[in-house]
Amino acid sequence: MGTIARQTPRVAARSREVLAPFGNGNGSRPSHSALLDIDEAHRWFALLRWGAARDLYTYQQPLDGHSGPRVRVRGKPLLMLSSYDYLGLIGHPALESAAIDAVRTHGTGTGGVRLLTGTTRLHRDLERDLALFKGTEAALTFGSGYSANMAVVPALFGPQDRAFVDANAHRSIIDACLLARVPLRRFPHNDADALRRALEQSAGVRRTLIVVEGVYSMDGDVCPLPEIVALKRRYGALLMVDEAHSFGTLGANGRGVHEHFGLDASCADLWTGSLSKAIPANGGFVAGSADLITYLQHAGAPFIFSAALCPAAAGAARAALRVIAGEPDRIERMHRRAERLRAGLQTLGYDTGASTTGIVPVLVGGDVNAYTLARRLLDQGLLATAIVHPAVARGAARLRLCATAGHREQDVDEALDAFRRVGP
Ligand code: PMP
Repeated sequence: MGTIARQTPRVAARSREVLAPFGNGNGSRPSHSALLDIDEAHRWFALLRWGAARDLYTYQQPLDGHSGPRVRVRGKPLLMLSSYDYLGLIGHPALESAAIDAVRTHGTGTGGVRLLTGTTRLHRDLERDLALFKGTEAALTFGSGYSANMAVVPALFGPQDRAFVDANAHRSIIDACLLARVPLRRFPHNDADALRRALEQSAGVRRTLIVVEGVYSMDGDVCPLPEIVALKRRYGALLMVDEAHSFGTLGANGRGVHEHFGLDASCADLWTGSLSKAIPANGGFVAGSADLITYLQHAGAPFIFSAALCPAAAGAARAALRVIAGEPDRIERMHRRAERLRAGLQTLGYDTGASTTGIVPVLVGGDVNAYTLARRLLDQGLLATAIVHPAVARGAARLRLCATAGHREQDVDEALDAFRRVGP
């Protein structure tokens, strides 16, 4: 038996804590005001009460300290296996002191949106560094990766255009297309042939946008970028790549999916990304041509109507770029840990889907299977999040594991021990 189970007899279910205002999981009908007297809310409360009654609610475990391969929840040690901190940089002294310096120099907030009074020298420096790292002319930061996507699509596309978006693309991309009112069609995941067939139907539109992700967040597979770029060129379409999970993790230097495939950053018309994953701060960015960035400074709504990236996050992000450039072995280590995890799970009979990156899904079918497996693993001292419908298709529920450069081989082996104990 591994050490985790001995150290962590059982993490108390916190379902009741979460559900206290809503009937406490005891089956009584919650007293809703008109505000929540809608079918959607009733469905959620019914599901939450159902989960609480069975002790299957494992979300929102409050970490005592910062995240990392080992965390504590209410004093209990847990092995963290679902963190986006791919390169193990949370807690890195260079990032922490850069964040503290940024607060000392620029304050805890900027006091304004970027266009007006919220731009600091630090924002400019970070954006220059991001562009240099990515290999584009320029970059622009936002308060989150979600905002970056919401900025870019409505600023550039509208009802006269059309968008072909990968079926597994992130919610922020879909929301951005809806806000832009650009007709949206989702093509089967990573299926370049299906995309080609869709592109062949010219619909008399102004322009066609293709949106893919570098690494898919729920599957851990990589987009076939060379084929997508060839199609974009052949059909005169425009290409947007969301690199939330590939920036910092793909390519020998972490520059993203274009480096992974040996392409130039000019192969896409624009790149978006998050500063909350391989770069463990907060915020998001768009990278592309200098003209694109100038345009977004004046037409990207979150740049004008939402607070600037806070200085602490900007400072930490700059420091993270330097660490990634100076310690590229972190990327390789993350991939090695992921490979060990994947191979071990497969040997145990688990289905890890098409994953080839640090994201390793464990496919379990129905939502209840995912809730149950997450609960049993938590009892074994492993924090692994259940991903269910609508984040993934019905019947495609999973645990979404993330191997990081912070994990030691022993950590992976302990995780595999826990999976062995609970059985596939
Ligand atoms: N795009 C993708 C593919 C993501 O997975 C995420 C976050 N999970 C985002 C965008 C949004 O990034 P952020 O968390 O910085 O808002």
